[in-house]
Amino acid sequence: MNINAGLQDLRHRLGEVSDIHNAIALLQWDQETYMPPKGAEARSWQLATLSALEHRLFTAERLGELLRELHERADALDAADAVLVEVALYDYDRALKLPEDFVHTFAAEQSKALAVWVDARQASDFGMFRPNLERLVALARQRAEYLGYVDSPYDALLADYERGMTSAEVKRLFTELAARQSNLVERIAAAGQPELPWLTGPWDESAQWAFSLRVLKDMGYDFEAGRQDSSVHPFSVHFDTLDARVTTRAAKDALFSCLMSSIHEGGHALYMQGHAERDRRTLLCDAPSLAMHESQSRMWENVIGRSLPFWRHYLPVMRDFFPGQLDTVTPEEVYAAVNLAKPSLIRVDADECTYNLHIIIRFELEVALIEGSLDPSSVPEAWNSKVREYLGLEVPDDARGCLQDIHWAHGAFGYFPTYALGNLYAAQLFNAMLEQVPGLWESVEQGDFRPMLAWLRTNVHVHGRRKLARELLRDATGADLSPEPYIAYLNHKFGALYSLGI
Ligand code: ZN
Repeated sequence: MNINAGLQDLRHRLGEVSDIHNAIALLQWDQETYMPPKGAEARSWQLATLSALEHRLFTAERLGELLRELHERADALDAADAVLVEVALYDYDRALKLPEDFVHTFAAEQSKALAVWVDARQASDFGMFRPNLERLVALARQRAEYLGYVDSPYDALLADYERGMTSAEVKRLFTELAARQSNLVERIAAAGQPELPWLTGPWDESAQWAFSLRVLKDMGYDFEAGRQDSSVHPFSVHFDTLDARVTTRAAKDALFSCLMSSIHEGGHALYMQGHAERDRRTLLCDAPSLAMHESQSRMWENVIGRSLPFWRHYLPVMRDFFPGQLDTVTPEEVYAAVNLAKPSLIRVDADECTYNLHIIIRFELEVALIEGSLDPSSVPEAWNSKVREYLGLEVPDDARGCLQDIHWAHGAFGYFPTYALGNLYAAQLFNAMLEQVPGLWESVEQGDFRPMLAWLRTNVHVHGRRKLARELLRDATGADLSPEPYIAYLNHKFGALYSLGI
């Protein structure tokens, strides 16, 4: 085989797969933003056809042969092409391990389960959803067998989201986090909450929207290569490095929720806009893992958007958007308001102190489900007892308990830990950035995010999937993943906010 001709053929084939993949993403974006309700049926046909086409093109025998031939001659490739071949072959082998009829069975079960889950959550009745969960857990365990694993079947599923990480490693990190964060939560509970009477509003929704656009622009989000729209659940998506979009939502009684969603999704979108030019139209144009993606959104939202320097700059800006409503409020009061810490039942509303505890609960349960030590019928009892243990709360009903999240109804086991791992990556990366970028907080206090974005572009964004998350982290910070930077960050921040003397 002529190597250059082979590479050209490979790039052409991967380009076609990427085009279809991104067209699917665009149809899904439309479904969540502008599609009229009656468009749903036709949209499901279009998505099914394009997904099957994408799968067919990507699993074509010729593509496999090509990848293997190029892989065998990796020494003759330049380093950048060798990585492209390695990552594509990894995805190709994984896609081929699942028999086609299994993929169809799984997809059919997913869509049935999703519909039942919506009704079961509405009725707050786990019993309705139990048979679906049983089938999904059985299918997920079957999936792990097809994919293969060394120690735990959970590892095979985790690899969908966090290649290179094992459940044993996650357990070690989470055990440390659980103990230290529970301790912090107890100390905050004993400290009492600040009074914030000004926070109730109401707050004009279009002003919230305009303010969120202003902050996104300041962050360096390129509106010529993206846009913000409204959706029920905020999300971000990219169809190319030059088209990475975000959504958010505004409510009159929640002053910060629109802004924080915009900053969070903006963090994801800045990552997408920062992938390398040479990786466009290939599967390298993505993050190495969901947790690495989440590290970007969480760094912008929590470390920056919930910091005092940020609010010293943006409170005066925000006053112009809400005339007369914030004149007597101080940056310190806004800082307290965006960092209220209190155990609650719902993960998506959780503050930084308790968020990882919600994740640890889900991780422990899904590992037990996949390893077979927890029967799906016992999920509510197991859930409620863990909420008592980690958050000190009684779960009043299934809707506010084990039915609150969509992930398991999607058949997505192994997804949850990436949220908490994202917090850990964010803290560790941010520490390294602070050491390497002098005056970082001073520039944040001036609303100047260019030094921060430049560091992230160079150390994180531009690499796409060319490095595994652990390699990227080690190269950028000089260390392996540790819970210490995140725990130190929480203790420092909340110790001061709640005068805990730590
Ligand atoms: Zn996110």
